[in-house]
Amino acid sequence: MPKLFTEEMKKDYTIIAPTMLPIHFGMIKKVLAQYGYHLEFYEGDTKEMITEGLKNVHNDLCYPAIIVIGQLMAALKSGKYDPNKTALMITQTGGGCRASNYIHLLRKALKNSGYDQVPVISVNMSGLEKHPGFKLTPGLIGKCVLAMWYGDLIMWVSNQCRPYEKIKGTTQAVIDHWVDYLAEVSSTPKFLGMTKMAKQILQEFDAIPKKVVERVKVGIVGEIYVKYAPMGNNHLEDFLIQEGAEVVMAGLSDFMMYCFSNKKIDHDLYGHNGWGLIGSQVGYKYIHYMQKKMIKCIKNYSSFRVPTDFEKVKALVQKFMGVGVKMGEGWLLTAEMLELVESGVENVICAQPFGCLPNHIVGKGMMRKIKEVYPNSNIVAIDYDPSSAKVNQENRIKLMLANGLESIHLKNA
Ligand code: SF4
Repeated sequence: MPKLFTEEMKKDYTIIAPTMLPIHFGMIKKVLAQYGYHLEFYEGDTKEMITEGLKNVHNDLCYPAIIVIGQLMAALKSGKYDPNKTALMITQTGGGCRASNYIHLLRKALKNSGYDQVPVISVNMSGLEKHPGFKLTPGLIGKCVLAMWYGDLIMWVSNQCRPYEKIKGTTQAVIDHWVDYLAEVSSTPKFLGMTKMAKQILQEFDAIPKKVVERVKVGIVGEIYVKYAPMGNNHLEDFLIQEGAEVVMAGLSDFMMYCFSNKKIDHDLYGHNGWGLIGSQVGYKYIHYMQKKMIKCIKNYSSFRVPTDFEKVKALVQKFMGVGVKMGEGWLLTAEMLELVESGVENVICAQPFGCLPNHIVGKGMMRKIKEVYPNSNIVAIDYDPSSAKVNQENRIKLMLANGLESIHLKNA
């Protein structure tokens, strides 16, 4: 029986969670604080975290498991937190992939390192584990979904500003301002006024002075952790911007819609029913409604490109594979590559973590097929693992960028 996080603990425990999306997680931390949870992210040295991960997790396991568990164990060993007043938090996807089982690896690591007293809270929507001191109430879920929406909006438009800014750092300043402000007002009704808030956000990003230059647009797809987490992908976004490219990356809400869609797919293919199906259909409709609202706001209040409606993304992939392929990022990964290429972003990096068989199939495994249908696509798979040399990853990316630049020259010739 795992050690539970009790209501008593909620009063004075610090909860440490892994980092992934800096913009989104900053707001989510504040939302959780309103509900009485003291959440912290431990930002230490990446090498130290990988070393810690390798000490505690077998090296043939998924790279995200190694790095996430390494981060949490390094936090506990840092001396910054009292292990008798600390809990850890980790997600369980509830799918068939290993991500549902990282929690057990983490508990084993805690036991082996003498931290048996530290409870691990599971964040899941599939009823896998419950803790009396941590409740995903409708109010908390609703606020987190809103934080995700604002996070996706800021990430989407800031990616269209950063490579073009005339004064270095102006985009980051606008991001920081809005993340702080949204976190501050997340307990007030202002936070709920999405359209009004989006209008102000969009206008501020639009007003950033920008150079008129053509950049190579590079889409990033892949396993969710290495796709988004700077620590997991050796700061891929920063590297691309430094090399003069514009990053294009779908938001977290696409992943949520993918997860919700899969319940319906299970129903259609295998006859699964029950409350999970009803809940996921409601969840899908709500997040899709919010995505449409975001598209409308971007169209109405700014000059930025809009994200593609998820229904269209889902339809695209069905010409290439069945949606029953849903282990790991499953059909979503292929769908995102297709959506990028269809929308004119022909250069795509597919971030592949070591040990991730499902995403190799729907990522690397689909590249040839995509290339046959879209001969101009320029897709490259980049492997991430504890020992891969950053310089090798960057050289492969530089080669891809050179091809992308050549295509621009040919088009403009
Ligand atoms: S998607 Fe890949 S990295 Fe994630 S748990 Fe599954 S196998 Fe591991």
